[in-house]
Amino acid sequence: MKASGNGLLAGIVVAVVGGGVLGWFFPSGAVAVAWVGDLFLNALKLLVLPLIFCSMVDAVAGISRRGRLGNIAGVTFLYYLATTAIAVTVGLAVVTWISPGSGIAPAVGQAPPQVPESGLRAIVDHLVRPNLVEAAARFEILPVLVFALAFGTALGRVGARADAAIAFFSGCNEALLRLVDWLMVVSPLGIGALIAARVGAAGGGAGVGGELAAVGAYFVTVLLGLCVHGVVVLPAILKLVAGRRPRQYARNLSEALATAFATASSSATLGVTMRLTEERNGIDSETANFVLPLGATVNMDGTALYEAVAAVFIAQTLAVPMSWADQVTIAVTATLASIGAAGIPQAGLVTMVIVLQAVGLPLEGISLILAVDWLLDRFRTTVNVWGDAVGAAVVAARRA
Ligand code: ASP
Repeated sequence: MKASGNGLLAGIVVAVVGGGVLGWFFPSGAVAVAWVGDLFLNALKLLVLPLIFCSMVDAVAGISRRGRLGNIAGVTFLYYLATTAIAVTVGLAVVTWISPGSGIAPAVGQAPPQVPESGLRAIVDHLVRPNLVEAAARFEILPVLVFALAFGTALGRVGARADAAIAFFSGCNEALLRLVDWLMVVSPLGIGALIAARVGAAGGGAGVGGELAAVGAYFVTVLLGLCVHGVVVLPAILKLVAGRRPRQYARNLSEALATAFATASSSATLGVTMRLTEERNGIDSETANFVLPLGATVNMDGTALYEAVAAVFIAQTLAVPMSWADQVTIAVTATLASIGAAGIPQAGLVTMVIVLQAVGLPLEGISLILAVDWLLDRFRTTVNVWGDAVGAAVVAARRA
């Protein structure tokens, strides 16, 4: 059973719009269908860890066997860094231009959010964990990814004795992607239910309207930045560097983009992104298996852009001027914070502490943007996933 293209696309559009309308006008009814969305989300999440491990080991073993790992990893990381830097720059430009924080009462005296760990040290500590099973049980993806990278490289170097092991992971990867196919058949239902339930939980149209009223200009600023990056910058890169037709490429990914919006999680979306990038956009599986799992965890253009906008917005509410040096600090730390953010809902809100601390802004500021974060999270996650998929095309074109 395979997901068929156009029927699904229509289903996805109906799901996103229908879910939003249901949640907006009938919040209590929408909340009642939450279990459908949760079932879908849990099924997606269930696949994440095995998929990341198997796809990464499979890809890296093949690449390292041919001695090409340095080359492909180099292009991949260059793409990640360059696009994240552009995203941050776009964010800084729009927030300076619109200045959404001027005239807004600062969040003085509010309790700062509970932040479990923060800072660069936390990112480094999460790279290597002493117990892989414990890390996996906590859904910490970065250490699993790092181990898969090392293990795959080693398998590729062992020679013929590792052939059976590599074939094993390759077969598992195929089977997992087949499971993704099956899930995609019901994805419109799951996506619609997730969106309806979340909008319903926010109190429907009245609730969302109230949340937006307080920081509407900030919301619009982030959205505008995300639009510029997602609709202008990334498509331009896709066309110029990878020679692809952006509209077609995006259309082929519509279920992945809608899943990102509905789940607010790059990781939960990963299986769908991988399937569509390979199957419909024709990216070779080795490149997709390498670039996409890494990207879902470390490449977050939307998150970086949002963190830069949010930090400057908080400074504007306090009338604290941000010098050029401060802006550079924000750009660098927002990039690092987006790398450190996990591909799960609202992870960017937590790592934003790194940015605020770096330029000496009070953490209380976060409480200003808390109310609308669940909604902005969906837009930035969609851009994150789009950036990963564009990256797969760029890397595939550069290694060809
Ligand atoms: N939810 C985002 C993602 O999964 C991360 C974030 O910005 O909070 O990509």
